[in-house]
Amino acid sequence: MSGGSPHRRRLPIPVPPECRELIARGGLVVLNHSGGKDSQCMTILLSRIVAREQLLVVHAPLGEAEWPGTIEHIEKTIPDGVPLILAPLASGKTLLQRIEERGRFPSASARWCTSDFKRSPIERELRRYLKAHPRFGNLLVSAMGMRASESPARSKRPAWRRNVRNCKAGRDWFDWLPIHALETDDVFRIIREAGQSPHWAYAAGMSRLSCSFCILASRTDLSRAAELRPALYRRYAALEKRIDHTLSPSRMPLPELTGVPAAPGRGDPESGL
Ligand code: SF4
Repeated sequence: MSGGSPHRRRLPIPVPPECRELIARGGLVVLNHSGGKDSQCMTILLSRIVAREQLLVVHAPLGEAEWPGTIEHIEKTIPDGVPLILAPLASGKTLLQRIEERGRFPSASARWCTSDFKRSPIERELRRYLKAHPRFGNLLVSAMGMRASESPARSKRPAWRRNVRNCKAGRDWFDWLPIHALETDDVFRIIREAGQSPHWAYAAGMSRLSCSFCILASRTDLSRAAELRPALYRRYAALEKRIDHTLSPSRMPLPELTGVPAAPGRGDPESGL
């Protein structure tokens, strides 16, 4: 852990004693970065208390489904000298392709989009990274930017826990939610005070930076995303028709839900007009 930082005293996050010990023992601290404000805030805070040589940023790219400029935003806002690795799906398939193959959108109870496109590829890349960098002594802390105030489910998640699935063969792996107790205002304030800006999509009216059309998004966010990404919106709406299944758990098709028509328009790169 780096000492003497001028920011250390005002750090608003508790560091569990076991985590402190793992960092002191030279373990790898992974910043799971979606490109969103919470990942960005967490990166700012942890880079003040963990030596850069012990930090790694990992992002699971979602290609067309994620907001343009996401990877560039991560590259621009992570500290100099901290490596960024990408964890794509091994098959190279896109989320839209997998939805079409399955004939269904994911849902809150069947959230295979997160497990297939984020968790599994990230865990695969982290296992490889640990193996390729023995100096971390097979010790890993995986930090994620989830916050309790985001949802009742997230409020129940422990801020620190052993990741039993990934602890084996001498490897110690813990999951840490360092900003679990922060509120949305804190997050934006910390980013501002660090002299950074959040991804452009927030200023454009989005409240979250997930997939542009997320199965968990509010109607307001989906409407705004439809305006900001009309070509992709039309592809989602056309997919809903083809597979006869809707992105929204309300079972309302996107055009009905958002009030934004989905007919192909002139100038739409995917319309052929
Ligand atoms: S952002 Fe939403 S749609 Fe995208 S992977 Fe996560 S839960 Fe699924």
